[in-house]
Amino acid sequence: MVDKSAIAAFRETFTGSVYLSGDAGYENSRNVWNADINRYPAVVASCGSTDEVAAAIAFGRRQGLEISVRGGGHNFAGLAVAEGGLMIHLEKINSVRVDPASKRAWIGGGAALGDLDAACSEHGLAVTAGIVTHTGVGGLTLGGGVGFLLRRFGLACDNLLEAEVVLADGSVVRANRENHADLFWALRGGGGNFGIVTEFVFQLHEIGDTANVGMFFFPPERGVEAMQLFRELRDRLPDDMAIIAFGMRAPDAPFVPDEFRHTHGYFIQLATVGPAAELAAAAAIVREASPAFELVTPMRYVELQSMNDAFNPWGVHGYEKAVYLPAISDDAIDVMQKYLTGTRGAFSYFGAMTLGGQYARVADEDAAWAGPRDAGYHFIMTGTCETAEELVHDRQWVKEFWSDMQPHGMGSGSYINNMNEYDENRVRAAYGAEKYERLSRIKAVYDPENVFHHNQNIKPAATAPA
Ligand SMILES: Cc1cc2nc3c(=O)[nH]c(=O)nc-3n(C[C@H](O)[C@H](O)[C@H](O)COP(=O)(O)OP(=O)(O)OC[C@H]3O[C@@H](n4cnc5c(N)ncnc54)[C@H](O)[C@@H]3O)c2cc1C
Repeated sequence: MVDKSAIAAFRETFTGSVYLSGDAGYENSRNVWNADINRYPAVVASCGSTDEVAAAIAFGRRQGLEISVRGGGHNFAGLAVAEGGLMIHLEKINSVRVDPASKRAWIGGGAALGDLDAACSEHGLAVTAGIVTHTGVGGLTLGGGVGFLLRRFGLACDNLLEAEVVLADGSVVRANRENHADLFWALRGGGGNFGIVTEFVFQLHEIGDTANVGMFFFPPERGVEAMQLFRELRDRLPDDMAIIAFGMRAPDAPFVPDEFRHTHGYFIQLATVGPAAELAAAAAIVREASPAFELVTPMRYVELQSMNDAFNPWGVHGYEKAVYLPAISDDAIDVMQKYLTGTRGAFSYFGAMTLGGQYARVADEDAAWAGPRDAGYHFIMTGTCETAEELVHDRQWVKEFWSDMQPHGMGSGSYINNMNEYDENRVRAAYGAEKYERLSRIKAVYDPENVFHHNQNIKPAATAPA
């Protein structure tokens, strides 16, 4: 229970908004993307500035409230909402500013990817971002950030130049390669452990306005052939082209013939912001395998970035797990075939994202990012269901699929933004012992009391007694 008079006093001085149960703003704050999360924070502090974030942290600490931080509200495990705690909601810290001359963007800690992409795209610029527009820049970047441009420009966090961070003691620092370099290293993959980022500064890249995209569908009985072709593409196509395979139901979309709508199968997706001829040459290779149907088209980059919104609507029930694969072996394809048609959820899927390119050229020690830079593929299994009942089934599907993929993967560690359970062993496994220990020492400097623990938590290293 929170002291009512303390809340009243906070309300009087706090320049942001305070939402309690029953207030307008409370339900929208506590409801995150994943409808399976149903928690009730005691207080929501909706912030619009760095000072308000600092004031909210101080209030939470004085009251002994568990603090959670909400950016885009997309974390599958609902890390943004702590039962009975204080939610620091960054909804109004969502400004986006782009300087085309220096090719830099200043992005508020609570902005969504759609805002980032739209602002950059006006100038023919972009940075790697995720593939659903309503995902938060905050959680995505702090965890790493994979997307269509990963092979061309690396992870979102690889393109971070600087961050403004409100620390647990309320002080504000700007971290970059020169100042607070240890914190800057930790922010690039270490999650929300070290403070609340109120501004991200990104290096942007010229991409023009157009992306060339190909989607090719293969029905289940041609799955082995489709995935063997998919793995060959890694060596045959330019190393900055996005090459992704999805095992999913074909959508109700104009390019899908009636007989295939809602049926399971494999999509091979190719996307590039390079010349149209590159995509045309790649499409010709895939066409040799006679896909059941295809969509090959230029589109605006922002259209590519919003293409997956329809399959990831707010308020679905979600559960996911991931594994890194060194390669796609025939045995791994057999596992995919076994699980392909086993989902109930309309939007449940698995996906293999080809790594390499610029992602692999960044040195492992450059950032806290937990994934192996020499991995071949990021493989994700996701239950995305319209009802909780369907998710009971598809959660089990994800768990069994993940177990069966383990012999083909690179250990039990996986991308921290594609996990649902964050117990210490799993977080340690995600980072590996060396990176976890380094993060833990940095945590001890910037958040020794582990104020920010409702996240992919790194425990602060024990400090030597003075
Ligand atoms: C539909 C969907 C699509 C996705 N697509 C992709 C994708 O293409 N690529 C990809 O890499 N990931 C993707 N993800 C995973 C996504 O990166 C994570 O869910 C991430 O946590 C989302 O960030 P958020 O700000 O929306 O989340 P929230 O749930 O709001 O935040 C999660 C946690 O991040 C931390 N956090 C967020 N903002 C800040 C901040 N400003 N300062 C400090 N800490 C902060 C906090 O610890 C918070 O609890 C997707 C997720 C979903 C649900």
